[in-house]
Amino acid sequence: MLFEAYLCLFFLGAIFGSFANVCIYRLPLDQSIVINRSHCPFCKKKIKWYFNIPIFSYIYLQGKCSCCKEKIPIQYLVVESISALSFVFIFYLFGFSIDTFLFIFIFSIYVIIFYIDLKYFIIPNSLNFILIFSGFFKNFIPQLNRSFSPDIISSILGGIIGYLAIWIIIQLYKKIKNIEGMGLGDAKLFCGIGLWFGYQSIFIIIFLASIIALMTIAPKLIKGKVKMKSEIPFGPFIIIGNLVYLIFMDEIFNFLSIL
Ligand SMILES: [Zn+2]
Repeated sequence: MLFEAYLCLFFLGAIFGSFANVCIYRLPLDQSIVINRSHCPFCKKKIKWYFNIPIFSYIYLQGKCSCCKEKIPIQYLVVESISALSFVFIFYLFGFSIDTFLFIFIFSIYVIIFYIDLKYFIIPNSLNFILIFSGFFKNFIPQLNRSFSPDIISSILGGIIGYLAIWIIIQLYKKIKNIEGMGLGDAKLFCGIGLWFGYQSIFIIIFLASIIALMTIAPKLIKGKVKMKSEIPFGPFIIIGNLVYLIFMDEIFNFLSIL
């Protein structure tokens, strides 16, 4: 029974990953994510269903389109595999519970935001609004995992503080350096994070995201590959910071209580 459940979640994750790839490709172009069938971005031919099976088709076709043999970006395989493994891992942690469902939901939105921001430097409003509304309404589900905001007050405060914190950073950047360090997309993302995980999470996640961003970008800055003024998508770092926060929550709050 348990093995079947894991297998089922692996396939669900892979199928979701495939859908996430469609969203990553179409949302920034304002294309419908349900109406058109998948087609090759190079030769525009419709992809036959048996070449559109998540993970397996990519491996079977060795990452090339079945018609034009053009290389399919590795992102397709990465997103499908990460989604499949994460669905399994979340189920391993929380079993048959509402927490499993909610974490899978959050993770699913994060995967799409991560890649869209990485590629296009934007976070679509539609995704942020889904996060914000769901973060508010999850407050009415009783007895949730304590990783989520402890109560509705901390959730709503989190939404407000999350948005304001980034808004202030944006204004400061504009005044001091005359550049846009972050966008309002990041502010809306933090509004959603605050609603989901409470105001306690906001400054820790901002701190973690900044450290991770610095560690990633510093070597490139030194090598001269990016300039201080280059545009850097901050969304992916916020999402990694949020995941680190969730995984090491106990350690972080233990550490903070010693200080
Ligand atoms: Zn093709």
